[in-house]
Amino acid sequence: MANIAFLGLGVMGYPMAGHIAAAGHQVTVYNRTAAKAEAWMAQHGGAHAPTPAAAAAGADVVLSCVGDDPDVLEVALGSDGAIPAMREGAIYIDNSTVSAEVARKLASVGGERGIGVLDAPVSGGQAGAENGKLTVMVGGAQTDFDSALPVMECYGARVVRMGEAGSGQLAKMVNQICIAGLVQGLSEGLNFAAESGLDTDALLEAISGGAAQSWQMVNRGHTMVRDEFDFGFAVDWMRKDLRICREEAARNGAPLPVTEIVAGFYDELSEMGHGRGDTSSLIRRLRKG
Ligand code: NAP
Repeated sequence: MANIAFLGLGVMGYPMAGHIAAAGHQVTVYNRTAAKAEAWMAQHGGAHAPTPAAAAAGADVVLSCVGDDPDVLEVALGSDGAIPAMREGAIYIDNSTVSAEVARKLASVGGERGIGVLDAPVSGGQAGAENGKLTVMVGGAQTDFDSALPVMECYGARVVRMGEAGSGQLAKMVNQICIAGLVQGLSEGLNFAAESGLDTDALLEAISGGAAQSWQMVNRGHTMVRDEFDFGFAVDWMRKDLRICREEAARNGAPLPVTEIVAGFYDELSEMGHGRGDTSSLIRRLRKG
């Protein structure tokens, strides 16, 4: 069993750290808002530390799950950041969704200090984190991946190494590009069904067994029809993710015509005050009145 530090106990990090503790590892948590770290400790045991550096000192594996590029840079490399406090031979795993550029920077700084760094963004949402059934897309050295795999398997049902540093984040970008157009299509279909007077429950039962089936249809179709969006993966996180995809596409030249349009729709939703609602709230833009 290893000494683990977990930084960032949000919707995702809180249950992910819980699964690592449940597997028998010694877990020290850090959260910017200390009350969440205290609540986590009351539920799972372990310890909590006042800074990322204090949590990371002496750990075999340090994980983070925070927000955007500047947040990861702060917890990993900031004045109280984890990486400078880590021992040689330890491994840093970032589970946040951020740019490939930040992933490569962490890998480069870590490499200079003898610390292995893996970018390991996740997919599967809050439910996947709570069930310990996330998909984890990993970039970094094979040897570091092999050493850290038992820890990532505590919260991941499917943990796949994509290649060198940054490639986990690139895979997550593909995931988000695939979701963006699909959710808009599902929104248009379900809104069309409502306008046509179809029984949407019967409709979903029929078409979710055919070629139109998708995770979004199965897991979000009924809640979209019922106008329930107060859960799941927030519009503002999706805006961040699509910004990262578009910035990467500007570098690699891949056209993203549909993703560009849907990113604009998410901006509209955020301006309408729906930034914390689930990504399936794209259907809201289509409804009359
Ligand atoms: P969240 O609930 O908003 O939690 C964010 C966590 O990061 C909180 O613990 C927050 O601390 C901490 N944090 C943010 N900025 C920080 C900073 N500058 N310094 C220190 N701590 C900071 O977010 P989440 O939903 O767990 O998402 C976390 C990451 O996973 C994001 O990159 C997101 O895109 C990705 N993700 C989320 C989902 C999902 O369904 N939610 C799915 C896949 C991937 P405080 O408690 O102090 O605010």
